[in-house]
Amino acid sequence: MPDQRFHLILLGAPGAGKSTQSRLLGHHFPLTVFATGQMLRDEVVKGSALGLLADSYFKTGTLLPDDVMIAIMTERLRALPQTQGVLLDGFPRTCVQAEALDKLLIELKRPLDAVIALDLSDEVAVHRLGGRRMCEGLGTPFALHIDDPESIAACLRLGGNVTIRPDDEPEVIRERLRVYEAETEQLIDYYGGHGLLHRISAAAAPETVHEQIVTLLGERHATVGGT
Ligand code: AMP
Repeated sequence: MPDQRFHLILLGAPGAGKSTQSRLLGHHFPLTVFATGQMLRDEVVKGSALGLLADSYFKTGTLLPDDVMIAIMTERLRALPQTQGVLLDGFPRTCVQAEALDKLLIELKRPLDAVIALDLSDEVAVHRLGGRRMCEGLGTPFALHIDDPESIAACLRLGGNVTIRPDDEPEVIRERLRVYEAETEQLIDYYGGHGLLHRISAAAAPETVHEQIVTLLGERHATVGGT
């Protein structure tokens, strides 16, 4: 019987909208979303040892060590109920992480269905990240933009706080984009070589990008399920 669970990876430069798309996909499909950046930010808020470590990397816009991230994801994926599919947002980010994930998914009998790469120019990414604010205190924090003052006002009206992520400071943004190009962009070739890659322009509105991903996954699922 075909596997009805989805196993997906969302790739994309900072600012491409990975967390927005993973939130929308998590509502659309029966998926557990593992967003490593948000997991780490939650640890910073808790003040845990991992949070202290993560905070030092956030300040410079660099990646946490591979072994730390692989250990976190191994624990999470092993604990995932068998019936649940998963969407990985922010992991893997290096080839070492991708190879470790391949081995783990084979061991857990969770074959990857698709890797979706959200494409965005540096220029648009810098504009998005430079104006990005977070609405916190109303459940999972979500992104807003200074170009949309009504959403910012709505966040405040509902009792949320509007904050700036420490890694959205201008010099840190430049470093994050450089790290993406140096470390993560090669995963596009890696997964392209495995025949799993789908590239989607992230320049359109979030809802449009979401619809394109849903269409793509619908087609992919029909192929995988043989229906
Ligand atoms: P994100 O919210 O995905 O942009 O991630 C924010 C920050 O968390 C990154 O800039 C890294 O410092 C750290 N991070 C998230 N995922 C990973 C990962 N897979 N490997 C290393 N560092 C990560």
